[in-house]
Amino acid sequence: MDRRLLEKLKVGEVGFHKIDSNPDTGAAIELRRAAVSELTGTSFSHITNFSFDVEKVTKRNIENMIGAVQVPLGVAGPLRIRGEYAEGDFYVPLATTEGALVASEHRGCSVITACGGANVRIFDDKMTRAPVFRTKDIIGAHRLVGWVKENFARLKDKAEETTRFGKLLSVEPFVAGRSVYLRFAYDTKDAMGMNMVTIATDAAVDLLLSENEAELIALSGNMCTDKKPAAINAVTGRGKTVSADLVLNGEIILEKLKTTPEKMAEVNYRKNLVGSARAGSLGFNAHAANIVAAIFIACGQDPAHVVEASNAMTLMELTEDGLYCSVTLPSLAVGTMGGGTGIGAQQECLSMLGVAGAGDPPGANSKKLAEIVAAAVLAGEISLIGALAARHLAKAHAELGR
Ligand code: NAP
Repeated sequence: MDRRLLEKLKVGEVGFHKIDSNPDTGAAIELRRAAVSELTGTSFSHITNFSFDVEKVTKRNIENMIGAVQVPLGVAGPLRIRGEYAEGDFYVPLATTEGALVASEHRGCSVITACGGANVRIFDDKMTRAPVFRTKDIIGAHRLVGWVKENFARLKDKAEETTRFGKLLSVEPFVAGRSVYLRFAYDTKDAMGMNMVTIATDAAVDLLLSENEAELIALSGNMCTDKKPAAINAVTGRGKTVSADLVLNGEIILEKLKTTPEKMAEVNYRKNLVGSARAGSLGFNAHAANIVAAIFIACGQDPAHVVEASNAMTLMELTEDGLYCSVTLPSLAVGTMGGGTGIGAQQECLSMLGVAGAGDPPGANSKKLAEIVAAAVLAGEISLIGALAARHLAKAHAELGR
């Protein structure tokens, strides 16, 4: 190890980010790790273990790399799904440190599969980016909105010059005084699409600025809305808008969840609906974020998008022979190309689900992944509501989580 360079790193004479090709990526990682080890008095014997391609990940996934964090990976399933893209029995990879989560999801999968499988359908598919502009006054704002409507085709051409796959679907204006927000929505096929739509929108903005008296204040004006809880995503959608449902048989509920459809329906009503409303929550569900986060971490999705995914709604209604259950996720951002999806372990998890890489036709794999996530969330909801109805929740966590 280059001891002189290490000392320079420690005192900040050379920046952590300056050494990546000095002498090579592997040596740079070791040097940074040694500097952090000496600066913080930490001896590293775990973050040193990884098998992915450092050249690839340091180019597109991480800066100032010093190692990798390992997250335990479990599996739940089989989960029977009757989607338009996902059809059959699936084994769902879940990366988590929450004891009892995988067991609970596994139980939910077994209930769904025993009841014949979950239907899943996608209702909308678009990734959004919303720049904010300042105009002179509201007359200027009105003129800008009119120009956008008249010139949609030209904006679309400009945006689509930057990508082989992204398609501009709409530009929706929102005005607050002389602040104008234009919510660009794209079909991003198998990519989750945030980089794609940011680059495409930037190109379209150049055209807009060249023909209007408006100033671009920020390429993201927070009406996208990316990685923040926001009603706009819950109401109008972002990423995939996807629902899953099925009717649970009362006898299977009794056998596997040790409770009744009536008790589950009441827990869902008073907890997920009334309780969430009383709390002012955007999420009307029991723990959609748990399942989404565990699948996202396993499958190389951007975990910050759990925020959008968490505003899911779970419904349970009594039927003649059981319990109708559904989940609707209005804003599920997933992809099978780009981002973290190409990293070794994450790609293996996507392969378990038959969705690694580009779909045929483009977009088919990301839609299939969205359907699997929705069905998995439904399994998680059924299991947790069942546990609450049977008063098993604390016991399960005491046994499995401590
Ligand atoms: P990306 O890796 O930047 O872009 C996807 C790439 O895959 C594009 O180059 C695309 O081609 C290519 N591609 C090949 N086959 C494809 C297919 N069948 N469908 C779609 N694309 C295909 O990924 P991204 O999804 O746009 O962005 C994800 C990354 O953005 C994540 O790392 C996330 O953490 C990050 N992120 C960025 C922002 C931001 O503001 N920029 C915000 C949140 C998250 P083309 O080049 O021809 O399009």
